[in-house]
Amino acid sequence: MHLENLRFNLRRLRGHVERASTAAHGTAPQMCVAVKADAYGHGSVQVAAVALQEGCTHLGVATVEEGATLRAGGIEAPILLYGLAADEEIEALVRNRLTPFVADRHYTELLSDAAHRLGASVAVHLKIDSGMGRIGCRPADAAAVAREIIAMRGVTLAGVATHFPLADGADNGPTREQTARFAAAVAAIRSAGIEPGIVHAANSGAVIGHPESWFDMLRPGISVYGYYPSDEQPRSLELKPVMELRSRISFVKKVEAGAPISYGMTYRAQRATTIATLPLGYADGYNRLLSNRGQVLVHERASGRSYRAPIAGRVCMDQFMIDVGPDARVQREDEVVLFGPDPAGPDAEEIAGLLGTIPYEVTCWVSKRVPRIYV
Ligand SMILES: *Cc1c(COP(=O)(O)O)cnc(C)c1O
Repeated sequence: MHLENLRFNLRRLRGHVERASTAAHGTAPQMCVAVKADAYGHGSVQVAAVALQEGCTHLGVATVEEGATLRAGGIEAPILLYGLAADEEIEALVRNRLTPFVADRHYTELLSDAAHRLGASVAVHLKIDSGMGRIGCRPADAAAVAREIIAMRGVTLAGVATHFPLADGADNGPTREQTARFAAAVAAIRSAGIEPGIVHAANSGAVIGHPESWFDMLRPGISVYGYYPSDEQPRSLELKPVMELRSRISFVKKVEAGAPISYGMTYRAQRATTIATLPLGYADGYNRLLSNRGQVLVHERASGRSYRAPIAGRVCMDQFMIDVGPDARVQREDEVVLFGPDPAGPDAEEIAGLLGTIPYEVTCWVSKRVPRIYV
């Protein structure tokens, strides 16, 4: 993991927001970094520590267990729980001092009861569904739900939030409409005499392209890790990939024209060539759908050359092969980059493009078996 790129992205995002928001209202919003899914595969405790050093105030997780991992790792900052906990996780949620999204009376009562039993209190953020259709109360019900929440023992209303399904789209309309709907719901909460706490909405797409949605806090994820959420937004901000997946060649051989490579014999050498084997596969999170499609960046020590080589045949569970061509001088232990920030090689966005998915999934795939090294 290139932690200097993580810091670069955080500073880039902050700089972008500070320039625009100090011009508009004089103060820049706080930042809550999504470290769910082990920080999109990057390592949640390590990313959280850097984000907090860089002035971020909150962290976002999807499950109680992810929050507990941060607490066990010594993270003391407020942790927002973006997903809903199961009934049997509620006490652990309270004990780990997580700050859950809530969207209805029943779930908030479970939290209130658990807080009471444990002699604790729980700060919650009311989630309003302004158009995502996932979790949240209806905007029209927000003030009534907020009134129910503040009446419960052991529960305080510390924030109000919404989430955007299309902030990274080419059309700004849907996000502007959602922002207006959300702002009206927040205004209704205030009109009911209730202080909403921290008001927040913006994921990466909205941080990049929707200043009207920034409110008091931002909630970026993928942009912190160096990728745009989609290819539909203008690339107005430079971001650098944080994750680099590397391996080293484990075996090299010369093969004759027509030699079959890997399961299914789906690859046949077009000419006499050199085939190198890499000691990782789909169990490490290098997708099997990259078979005969993906490329890697080879760093040849003997020649000092770096070049791309295509995957030869199917990606196996623990190994796969590349065709480095007849003139290659690769050796066992030469380094190979599967994806990362080097512009000469593939990045997670290129791989996502080959597979019809998004860079989020590519970095999340990298499995526990792959050691994380922080530089
Ligand atoms: C994951 C998530 C984010 C971050 O989204 P990105 O697209 O990665 O910036 C923000 N808010 C919520 C509720 C999320 O679940």
